[in-house]
Amino acid sequence: MISIKNVNKSYGDHHVLTDINLEVPKSNVIALIGPSGAGKSTLIRTINALETIDSGEIIVDGISIHDKKTNINKARTNIGFVFQSFNLYPFKTALENVTMAPMKVKGLSKEAAEKRGKELLTQLGLGDKFDAYPGRLSGGQQQRVAIARAVAMDPEVMLFDEPTSALDPEMVKEVLDAIRSLADAGMTMVVVTHEMGFAKEICNDIVFMAEGKIVEVAPPSEFFTAPKTVRAQEFLKAVL
Ligand code: ATP
Ligand code: MG
Repeated sequence: MISIKNVNKSYGDHHVLTDINLEVPKSNVIALIGPSGAGKSTLIRTINALETIDSGEIIVDGISIHDKKTNINKARTNIGFVFQSFNLYPFKTALENVTMAPMKVKGLSKEAAEKRGKELLTQLGLGDKFDAYPGRLSGGQQQRVAIARAVAMDPEVMLFDEPTSALDPEMVKEVLDAIRSLADAGMTMVVVTHEMGFAKEICNDIVFMAEGKIVEVAPPSEFFTAPKTVRAQEFLKAVL
């Protein structure tokens, strides 16, 4: 579903992504972990071309994302992205935040978009918040609206960059539960996270990055109990 081939990227002299190769099959969930500055955000942002690449290729659902001939706006409708900060439209209700893009971009009727939007918000535990404005929602609730908004476009792929790191601890679980429910429904996902317990539980593979390189890829059962590289061993010693 996601195929990353020989991707390189530099900022000036600083090589931030070096020969990145990664395959994420349909319905797989990958956790991207690693120390600060490893290039996790840069890499995940190249998947929907929020960052350019210098060489290599990224294919999502058959579309070569960085090909000049690709209609990137169209390709992006197939790739949901949830950031650390929620960026909801402050003057739109939760439901309006969720229905806007499906109506504008996908041409859904208001009725159809609202039906789907209400279903999604209800699934994410926000069945009583359709008419609430973001300012009246907790951080965890806002992040769940942001997830519903991304899923409402029916993407083939969901990308999350530290979706819980801006949240108060008591709100982390509700957002992780929302992401887990997407995993259970078979969504293909890449999640940058510091939540090791969560990564262990829902991911098919852990992708460990350091200094712009993928250092180790392994199923969580192997990665967390017997990491092969010294770099991963050091990282786990520091975070677990
Ligand atoms: P964190 O865990 O702190 O979020 P990260 O793994 O997501 O770290 P990136 O944000 O991808 O790391 O950054 C990788 C490297 O690229 C860092 O050294 C960073 O300073 C550099 N970098 C990121 N964005 C830019 C930019 N726009 N211009 C120059 N350098 C950048
Ligand atoms: Mg980052």
